[in-house]
Amino acid sequence: MSDFGTLYIIATPIGNLADISLRALDTIKAVKVLYAEDTRVTQHLLDHYGIQAKLLSLHDFNESKRISSVIEHLQAGSDVGLVSDAGTPLISDPGYKLVASVQDAGLDVRAIPGPSALTAALSVCGIPTDRFVFEGFLPKSSNDRNKRLAMLRFETRTIVFYESPKRIEASIQSCIEFMGADRKAALLREMTKHYEQHFCADLHTIKKQLASQNEKLRGEMVLILHGNDSQEDEVEFEKAMKLLVDLQQHMSLKEAVAIVAKHSGVRRNQLYSQGLKDNSNNQ
Ligand code: SAM
Repeated sequence: MSDFGTLYIIATPIGNLADISLRALDTIKAVKVLYAEDTRVTQHLLDHYGIQAKLLSLHDFNESKRISSVIEHLQAGSDVGLVSDAGTPLISDPGYKLVASVQDAGLDVRAIPGPSALTAALSVCGIPTDRFVFEGFLPKSSNDRNKRLAMLRFETRTIVFYESPKRIEASIQSCIEFMGADRKAALLREMTKHYEQHFCADLHTIKKQLASQNEKLRGEMVLILHGNDSQEDEVEFEKAMKLLVDLQQHMSLKEAVAIVAKHSGVRRNQLYSQGLKDNSNNQ
């Protein structure tokens, strides 16, 4: 047994407070200090289970400052826990710098695994999960979002995004422009909570389903896209777009798209939406 303490990274529920492991509860009870992203959120969880713990905040704005005191506790032989507001710490949540620093100090870090919106969403999306990329949140500015999606256009693995209700419609529209309206997708909202909702269809259908909701979509959500399974690749796409530009010297975009689609592996709606975007950028 080491004389030093261990840092435990503890997963907590993503909505339903019953989704917490026995080991997570035991560890929260046992640690000397529990660092939490927002102590008020974690206090609610502790109150639910009648647990008293010494809670201190550790969030994006004070993580660097907290590191030395965590290391002091561990070196003095005390165990320390880290939780975030929901799910698994470090997954689009603070903690990475802390874990790296504790490892660098030669001290132990252990996971108390449990819920994460990432794995919960993958487990119910109905899209292949053997290979996937987690993209976290898409950038807020439409320009940066488009750049990110342009990089993902030919990604063949399943793509997972965390999304905000404020931007979901704009993000789906951008995904349609870059991936095509017929790309299979899933939007998982408020998982494990009372108003849980799943939209599993192509992007065009999901867009229509969101537009027909009586109320604006609220709450927390994960957007998952099927990887690109068309035969098109980046080089072929670039060639097709060059041809599209040339043909538009002599005909409309629609006519040019029909010809290019016939002679390349690139789909008509991909060519059309990219053509529209390029034309408006060049005006
Ligand atoms: N660390 C957390 C985890 O392991 O899932 C994620 C933290 S991140 C700051 C919060 C985002 O996770 C939300 O904006 C949403 O995209 C997703 N999320 C969290 N809980 C969710 C839920 N119950 N249903 C759907 N998405 C959820």
